[in-house]
Amino acid sequence: MPRTSPRSAAVPEQLGFAGMPERLFVCTPSKLGTYLDCPRRYRYSYVDRPSPQKGPPWAHNSLGASVHTALKNWYALPAARRGTEALPTLLKSTWVREGYRDVDQERVTYRKALGWLDTYVAGLDPEQEPLGVERVVATKTAVLAFNGRADRIDARDGEAVIVDYKTGRTGLDADDARGSQALALYAYAAARVFRRPCRRVELHHLPSGTVAAHEHTEESLARQVTRAEDAARDIMAAEKAVAAGADADEEFPTNPGSLCGWCDFRRSCPAGAEVHGKEPWAAVEHLERAE
Ligand code: SF4
Repeated sequence: MPRTSPRSAAVPEQLGFAGMPERLFVCTPSKLGTYLDCPRRYRYSYVDRPSPQKGPPWAHNSLGASVHTALKNWYALPAARRGTEALPTLLKSTWVREGYRDVDQERVTYRKALGWLDTYVAGLDPEQEPLGVERVVATKTAVLAFNGRADRIDARDGEAVIVDYKTGRTGLDADDARGSQALALYAYAAARVFRRPCRRVELHHLPSGTVAAHEHTEESLARQVTRAEDAARDIMAAEKAVAAGADADEEFPTNPGSLCGWCDFRRSCPAGAEVHGKEPWAAVEHLERAE
């Protein structure tokens, strides 16, 4: 996994014509994350046009989207109506049906999701207005024009706090919050957008009702921004090389591993073709066993 940046080490500065600023790399956390996970997947997603055909939709993505939108719409209600009784209507109206094995599995998953939301919302203060819900924050560095949509940005004790909802199977710990480049970039951008400190980042895992948190320092945020800039330089250099005629397979190498079974482009990728693909509903099957 190209966490370090061999190419950026060889490209010390952005070199434009004298006096001409180099273009910034426009990115979201997911764009950078895709490259860091697998450069080839990045190429299939963002460089190749037309993009190779993706596999079918994933049930876990449908579940995540449904829960996120229900929470967004819960906050859009007037404070007096923000109770748990609003949840069945909210979840039903935002429910995404794609990717499930069958209607029975979908029903079980819906019931589970409603239960998670019920518990989660019961612990929220309906009077507490976040600074933003699914709020886009954007900022620029010397290399990046960053924008991203944070699930929620809370105002606490004069500071902004980044909240990211998770609906995956496994719980998360403080190391996940500390190591998340996406959360750090949101915090870096939110501090600039809201003109207040933003150091705390939190992962709210709805299935377990747990919160994994990390308090960043200026230095740890700066380190994450530097890593993001290194990745951006690598990507820009690879894109330029391909535009100049270099072999795209070499510039965007595969990174075979456990992610391949879940990769949308497995069927188009020589490394992915070797791997047994997961069923679209594989990541929600455990919910039926827990019934
Ligand atoms: S199948 Fe694996 S190696 Fe190929 S693009 Fe997807 S993640 Fe990368």
